[in-house]
Amino acid sequence: MHNIAIDGPAGAGKSTIAKKVAKELGFIYVDTGAMYRSMALYFIRNGIKSDEEDRITAVCDNIQVSIDYVNGEQQVMLNGENVNAFIRTEEVSRMTSDTSKYPVVREKLLSLQRELASKKNVIMDGRDIGTCVLPDAEVKIYLTASSAERARRRYAEQVERGIECDIEQIEKDIIARDEQDMNREIAPLKQAEDAVYLDSSDMNIEQVVKAIIDIYKSKVKDI
Ligand code: C5P
Repeated sequence: MHNIAIDGPAGAGKSTIAKKVAKELGFIYVDTGAMYRSMALYFIRNGIKSDEEDRITAVCDNIQVSIDYVNGEQQVMLNGENVNAFIRTEEVSRMTSDTSKYPVVREKLLSLQRELASKKNVIMDGRDIGTCVLPDAEVKIYLTASSAERARRRYAEQVERGIECDIEQIEKDIIARDEQDMNREIAPLKQAEDAVYLDSSDMNIEQVVKAIIDIYKSKVKDI
């Protein structure tokens, strides 16, 4: 199987880019952040606070996360319910970063992610894909952009969805989340040694997609 790993901080454009690369190469796009988000949603719905590691550990056995595809779009199923519509709020973003540091949460999703990559050609995005989930991926990309640019993109996305928000607050939230994701003990966000660093601050979507496809083609000669 061919695997492409894309890691990077919040709002770097990983999912937008990965979806387009997947379409061009005929790969399956796997959004691992959505899986962590679905677990965070479960904790919120059950009144569990992010610092209650014991309760989180205790309920993890009750959580079943799986993914499905509808018209090529990944849907995350939480105990059989499609929760895609509920996992993109700021509250869930914060809870996700606060709880994805726990070993029990990460272990739960690691095997699902590896299994998906072993069965299909996938382009998978997240924080620890190149360093931990798929250390043998043929192509690893570390995609980033300045925090101001990432906030600007996130803001535009929210406005498009009709959600009122404050760009300065978004930038603050993004920085706080990155800080936490980069400094946790298990599987922190960092560039894998063999990853290509791409700063998209001054690149448009098409340029980034092309750069990744070129890297893939130069590495995998038999396509
Ligand atoms: O990519 P997204 O912004 O949806 O990820 C939400 C959160 O999920 C991240 O801030 C991070 O805490 C967690 N995450 C992770 N490992 C991954 C993907 C996401 O810890 N592979």
